[in-house]
Amino acid sequence: MSQSHVYPVNPEQASHSLIDKAGYQRMYEQSINDPETFWGEQAEQFLGFFQPWSKVLSGDFSKADVSWFKDAKLNACWNCVDRHLPQRADQTALIWEGDDPADSLPITYRDLHLAVCRLANVLKQRGVKKGDRVCIYMPMIPEAVYAMLACARIGAIHSVVFGGFSPDAIKDRILDSDCQSVITANQGIRGGKVIALKDNVDKALANCPNVHSVIVVKRTNAEVSFKQGRDVWYHDAIDQVDDQCAAEVMDAEDPLFILYTSGSTGKPKGVLHTTAGYLLSAAISHKYIFDYHEGDVFWCSADVGWVTGHSYIVYGPLCNGATSLVFEGVPTYPDASRFWQVIDKHQVTIFYTAPTALRALMSMGNEPVQATSRQSLRLLGSVGEPINPEAWEWYYNVVGEQRCPIVDTWWQTETGASMISPLAGVTDLKPGSATLPFFGVKPELLDADGNIITGAGKGNLVITQSWPSQIRTVFGDHQRCVDTYFTAYPGYYFTGDSARRDEDGYYWIIGRVDDVINVSGHRLGTAEIESALVLHPKVAEAAVVGFPHDIKGQAVYAYVTLMLGVEESDALRKELVAFVAGEIGAFARPDIIQFAPGLPKTRSGKIMRRILRKIAANETDNLGDTSTLADPSVVEQLIANRHNR
Ligand code: ATP
Ligand code: MG
Repeated sequence: MSQSHVYPVNPEQASHSLIDKAGYQRMYEQSINDPETFWGEQAEQFLGFFQPWSKVLSGDFSKADVSWFKDAKLNACWNCVDRHLPQRADQTALIWEGDDPADSLPITYRDLHLAVCRLANVLKQRGVKKGDRVCIYMPMIPEAVYAMLACARIGAIHSVVFGGFSPDAIKDRILDSDCQSVITANQGIRGGKVIALKDNVDKALANCPNVHSVIVVKRTNAEVSFKQGRDVWYHDAIDQVDDQCAAEVMDAEDPLFILYTSGSTGKPKGVLHTTAGYLLSAAISHKYIFDYHEGDVFWCSADVGWVTGHSYIVYGPLCNGATSLVFEGVPTYPDASRFWQVIDKHQVTIFYTAPTALRALMSMGNEPVQATSRQSLRLLGSVGEPINPEAWEWYYNVVGEQRCPIVDTWWQTETGASMISPLAGVTDLKPGSATLPFFGVKPELLDADGNIITGAGKGNLVITQSWPSQIRTVFGDHQRCVDTYFTAYPGYYFTGDSARRDEDGYYWIIGRVDDVINVSGHRLGTAEIESALVLHPKVAEAAVVGFPHDIKGQAVYAYVTLMLGVEESDALRKELVAFVAGEIGAFARPDIIQFAPGLPKTRSGKIMRRILRKIAANETDNLGDTSTLADPSVVEQLIANRHNR
């Protein structure tokens, strides 16, 4: 496939970047060969401690039992807020942009400090103690960030549940992590639509007898029902407490949060992250990957309900004293120009979003982008799924006007921070490749027998040594952590993804290991075939899976979403089959193409291929865990039109 077009670093960017190629190489080598010295020095630079560590790294990686910065004491909220007050009390910490373009609000570090202290005092008053779990089910409003930081301040463990989840999904998560308090809002507003958050919480809590406290932010004027003694209005409660609250002294390895994975490959896992290692990885990756400079306006468009929002809206940027934008809305409301309008309005310099949003916007043409200036932008990022080279080129040429490097960051809820990614202004780019490992990350590719592949090749992606923001456990089920990540290849962390490494040592994520398709002995990654399909001018998005085939073992089943206004036809189907054969080879040719107006996605926007696999194989009576499916009607539609018959 013709995917190895290289975009060398532009010399103008290189002249401003924090480090150069030799600097990356030097730091990377030290981080791998002498991790204790490297991370000790970085921790001193990036974090403030109440008490130093006795040992940088200890424990046994192969048993999912590691400890970073043993005996050190610190507080994550203090690092993200208080530490900045002497120099930047008046600097904007958060820019809130509401769903309605008329609503926005700057919040300084001083404001942030007072708001967080008040909420922390409310939590304490309501009986929340260090180590308790608190469920946060919120719209994207500043109070969501206050809630996370207030928990961190008093040593409570937050478990943020994305505000789009159903009562059942909230209930499962509350019970799984035994949360006894909830912070929510009466309603949320997204894309002009109202979301009944408090009603959803009430329904969930009907089956959560341990929850004794619900704090409700008043986002709209709607009345909601209150349970006496359990529920309080946020605004009433914060008025009655002090605006100062000392930050709890936490151990480096005390839990900071629990966060459930997206559920793309199965039942979501409650990933537990701890304080020092997580915060350090979030901060250092935010700085070097995004080439963050003082004065940048940083916008990560994720929701705080996902790890991307945790690390790159809240903890990374705030730990670095940055200005971070919090967006309540969606990319297409009031119209498809919204992202770019927000960038102009707040003079955003760094923008970080997901391929799913880019593909959707790309299918609507260039006009909504070109109606805006985007001159403030200097850097773009992508995360969540492989970005198809076609979408990459569009992002680069149309959105960034060939001025902004794109950092395609590969990582997972479990890794806490970006693991494989270019450093902006340092790494030469190849569209579709996450490029090179970040500091402290030593990836390898393993063949089917678990042998390390050297040089260029394709295999299962593992990480061979600990990094600070490594998952510590699956909450309440350490065995699941060991079984899922540390058992398939003893001694390594198994990512569940497969990847290709090219002659330059660049990594290309080609999909989930479970999704690899074996056609007549050729192992095909989903991303490769999907990217070939998306390259066709009439295709907006594609998802491929394997299905049983008598002769070939497996054959390729492709679900294809066409560009707006394109007619479905058999002729087009044939054209697409030939197109894939031309791009990759005849062996990769789809046997079946089903036109799909929509694809099943998780609520974080990832394609759920395991459901597509079931539909292809006609095993639709047992679709597995569908609790994180965004729109069940998409699945019904696909089943009804299976094979396009
Ligand atoms: P679950 O683990 O419950 O199945 P999930 O893996 O989708 O859900 P996340 O932790 O949100 O949950 O997603 C991590 C996964 O997303 C990675 O394992 C990878 O497959 C994919 N991913 C993230 N970023 C990228 C990227 N830049 N390129 C390719 N794939 C990516
Ligand atoms: Mg996963």
